[in-house]
Amino acid sequence: LGRHKDDRRQSGFTYNGVTFDQNNLNIFAGLCAVDVPEHVEQMMKAVEENGEVCTRMGAYKPRTNPYSFQGHGKGCLPWVFEKAGKHGIKVIAMEITHESHIEEIDQCLEKLGRPTGVMLQVGTRNTQNFELLKAIGRQTTYPVLLKRGFGITLNESLNAAEYLASEGNANVIFCLRGMKTEAGQPHRNMVDFAHVPAVKRLTRMPVCVDPSHSVGTREQSPDGILDVMHATAQGVIAGANMVLVDFHPRPEKALVDGPQALLMNELPAYLEDIRLCHDTW
Ligand code: PEP
Repeated sequence: LGRHKDDRRQSGFTYNGVTFDQNNLNIFAGLCAVDVPEHVEQMMKAVEENGEVCTRMGAYKPRTNPYSFQGHGKGCLPWVFEKAGKHGIKVIAMEITHESHIEEIDQCLEKLGRPTGVMLQVGTRNTQNFELLKAIGRQTTYPVLLKRGFGITLNESLNAAEYLASEGNANVIFCLRGMKTEAGQPHRNMVDFAHVPAVKRLTRMPVCVDPSHSVGTREQSPDGILDVMHATAQGVIAGANMVLVDFHPRPEKALVDGPQALLMNELPAYLEDIRLCHDTW
């Protein structure tokens, strides 16, 4: 990934017709957690209608509280993948928390004739789960979205990405998602999007920003602009190559992170603003 002294390979890769590199911009607007088919359908339809081909859908959810909803797991994969195929979705970002999930996803896609593609997401709680990273690196060439660890140095997170590449999977996108610190209040995390150019300078990975988990609220500035949008613009103007962002048709019904989700009627303007920021950059 550019961190090894002999590594001079080009940045970027193409997966299922979508190119990920340090110049491109791909937007993954979607549900933090899959809940009911109706919401998945509405989300994917909106993504398609707005000319996008990627989304996010969480099936395996790593929760801080064991009594919180843990995700539908493999049970929802068939209908999520079928709907994705119907709406022309090429890549779904989907977090996995255990290596057995790789096979569950792969088998399900294979059984359905691969109607869509999957980007395996490793969340901030697993950034340094080295056995999981090694398993993903060894077992698959699915693209991997590795989130930075929320309580470790940037360098430690970049080394974690190298675990994937050193085991054979260099299709890695590095995601900034904010740092846990009391100083970050009133946001959920301290937004770290000033690190976008730093990661691009230090490595050859495309860089993603996750404004939803960074900001964590639907607060807005006096001019009526959502803090999530401000943070997105900062990231894209800094050169981000991917945006992972939570939307929900009915945030009050969302089973995970509803308070930070944007509304479906905000999607067109949100996408338009991102595209403008990217053209500016
Ligand atoms: C997520 O994207 O759903 C998520 C749990 O993110 P993070 O690992 O950044 O907390």
